[in-house]
Amino acid sequence: MSFANVILDREAPTVAQRRAIAKAITLLESTRDDHRKQADELLTALLPHTGKSFRLGISGVPGVGKSTFIETLGLFLIDKGHRVAVLTIDPSSTVSGGSILGDKTRMEKLSVHERAYIRPSPSSGTLGGVAEKTREAMLVCEAAGYDIVIVETVGVGQSETAVAGMTDMFVLLQLPNAGDDLQAIKKGVMELADLVVINKADIDKDAATRAQAQITSALRLFGHHGNPAHAQAMQAAHAVPGSPEAEIRFWQPRVMQLSALLGTGVDAFWTAVTEFKSLQSANGRLTMRREKQALAWMWERIDAGLKHAFRHHPHVRELLPQTIAAVTGGTLPASTAARNLLAAQDHHTPI
Ligand code: GDP
Repeated sequence: MSFANVILDREAPTVAQRRAIAKAITLLESTRDDHRKQADELLTALLPHTGKSFRLGISGVPGVGKSTFIETLGLFLIDKGHRVAVLTIDPSSTVSGGSILGDKTRMEKLSVHERAYIRPSPSSGTLGGVAEKTREAMLVCEAAGYDIVIVETVGVGQSETAVAGMTDMFVLLQLPNAGDDLQAIKKGVMELADLVVINKADIDKDAATRAQAQITSALRLFGHHGNPAHAQAMQAAHAVPGSPEAEIRFWQPRVMQLSALLGTGVDAFWTAVTEFKSLQSANGRLTMRREKQALAWMWERIDAGLKHAFRHHPHVRELLPQTIAAVTGGTLPASTAARNLLAAQDHHTPI
């Protein structure tokens, strides 16, 4: 495939490479069977050249300052010599066709910078499907030499889990008043966070400091400390919980203050990310996380593929209308209906 070569060619002119990346991602997002086959070939060709970037997940409610932060951080990183790709998972676009993340001009300077590549969320399909496309787009960007990939999402639905499941580090943005109502912060999302950033600290420094203290203690309660995998890893390393050794060997989620608008705290943020990266590389957690993610992705896509095949099986399709009528009409228990349909598929599937 000719554009695979352009993607991999570090000497290719930026415009040509961007065009090749866009073409590749469009191919990945296509629902046509022949396109999917080409996309699989492309991914297989690119795979040996992927995995060298740092994958950073960023989430937060609309208005918290995600795009301001990514613009500031992206330009800061480019200044340090990095190439930055920004991908987005916008669950609102898959549910309603509308878009929380895409309906305004975002990241004005970053989007036109030749060392940055920004791609909005695929706009149709289930969250699982969109996450799959984004993950594949991430591989294309890595193959093209982007060494920092930022995956952004809004704090609604299950999209945070999807982003945390495809990145090396998951960062949650919060407002300075977040600490006033910790209940409002979804516990499950807090557990995913490797780093919490209190943005807009310039507006209310006191509130930001309060939020930082409150979230720090909340993280101690239900953060990685309570995580069985973390406890196991500490045991394996013969580290005593709470000892300086344990603190050093394993990353403890942190809370920082920042102003994306003024750029204050961005340097300290990146120092923390760099620390995270070297610590998790040294203790093997980074590799473990990626291995687990790749397998989870495989199983998720198998589940989705089986469901798709099941729904399109001729005998299932034949039985489905009457079964649905019987279940909704109250004459057939849902569990029996499910067993009947599964059996219909089993009996007639050619081996
Ligand atoms: P997003 O919806 O999370 O992407 O949020 P935006 O980045 O669009 O920011 C929402 C609003 O907050 C914009 O008007 C920004 O200028 C403003 N904003 C973002 N970060 C900061 C900050 O650190 N300080 C202040 N004062 N305003 C900010």
